Amino acid sequence: MKVNLLDYDLEGLVAFCQQLGEKRFRATQLFRWIHHHGAADFGQMTNLAKSLREKLAESACIQGPKVVSRHESADGTVKWLFDVGAGDVIETVFIPETDRGTLCISSQAGCAVGCRFCSTGHQGFSRNLTTGEIVFQLWFAEHFLRQHLLRNDRVISNVVMMGMGEPLQNYAHLVPALRVMLDDHGYGLSRRRVTVSTSGFVPMIDRLAKDCPVALAVSLHAPQDALRDYLVPLNKKHPIDELLQACTRYQAVAPRDFITFEYCMLNGVNDQPEHARQLIALMQVHAARGLSCKFNLIPFNPFPGSGLKQSGMPQITAFAKILMDAGIVTTIRKTRGDDIDAACGQLAGDVQDRTSVDRRMATQRQGMLGGIKVVVAKEFNA
Ligand code: SAH
Ligand code: SF4
Repeated sequence: MKVNLLDYDLEGLVAFCQQLGEKRFRATQLFRWIHHHGAADFGQMTNLAKSLREKLAESACIQGPKVVSRHESADGTVKWLFDVGAGDVIETVFIPETDRGTLCISSQAGCAVGCRFCSTGHQGFSRNLTTGEIVFQLWFAEHFLRQHLLRNDRVISNVVMMGMGEPLQNYAHLVPALRVMLDDHGYGLSRRRVTVSTSGFVPMIDRLAKDCPVALAVSLHAPQDALRDYLVPLNKKHPIDELLQACTRYQAVAPRDFITFEYCMLNGVNDQPEHARQLIALMQVHAARGLSCKFNLIPFNPFPGSGLKQSGMPQITAFAKILMDAGIVTTIRKTRGDDIDAACGQLAGDVQDRTSVDRRMATQRQGMLGGIKVVVAKEFNA
């Protein structure tokens, strides 16, 4: 079987090239062809000797999952669905803003954490993505968008590991993928602009601090353990106090001077003024130990069978005001790409029900999905 070069960070590629009898600088050239130029064909790599190109073509490949579809929102958000085999589909979302372009990447097919408000969680866990499948999402999106937007320079400036899956439960494949994102010969993204979002897998927060400290976002969603146990079952293993202590340790090496806490606003569940006051008290305790935080309130994206409702905007702004009055920097996440269901956790319902994936693919073949133009996959697998 051929080796997929998207599975390697630069050091991995150096080791691979050494097996072929090639020096380090050859690996760097190859790495740049792949990630700077988006090359998938060794024939294109004109500064590599023909004999090496032939050796590579025999033993290696540069490939990823098949594109199922691409959806483009009126606001410029683009969502891709990729088929990772065995009926599993993952999503990748590009969110353009005036001063940056953010790519939201998946780390697993499904998720084992099982958060109540997350449709990926309801779907259950299928498997970890490989490093190549994680990197492919960036490789594909960056080079697709450059062509699509007729740009020669970098389009994606930020990556957030906020698609499907719990990145810290796929740690071994995550870290090399992060290194490709950060490497100057890869995507050259700064550590501040690559964010790992976690539901709170404490041991791996400490390992990430040592191995590859990037910006950290923690999905908190509740100010006390009983409620968080219910919403984020991983809390039973790693309760809030332990989690916030890990965040404080992480802060010592984090590229930003605060940790972002995500808080999904669920009507009548965690959105009351008393919850905001409990959060303030909690954060005061940990601030005294050295934690700086920022809150990001996320309007809940409803999905069938969740049994939960979105908080009203007045409730969300009132909650934000209580936090801000206490001096906590708080933002309310803008929903983007609503018309293409590009917001968090919107896809998994389809993945969960395999027949509905098939139905959806059939609908896409007809060219429309809920009134939105859908571009049929084969055009993009060419
Ligand atoms: N597993 C990681 C990263 C993926 S989820 C984590 O939980 O942090 C990315 C973000 O989307 C998390 O903050 C998560 O809480 C949020 N999210 C999941 N489902 C959601 C929904 N239905 N509505 C709003 N936010 C949701
Ligand atoms: Fe997994 Fe994150 Fe969804 Fe929780 S919110 S189930 S950790 S993807």
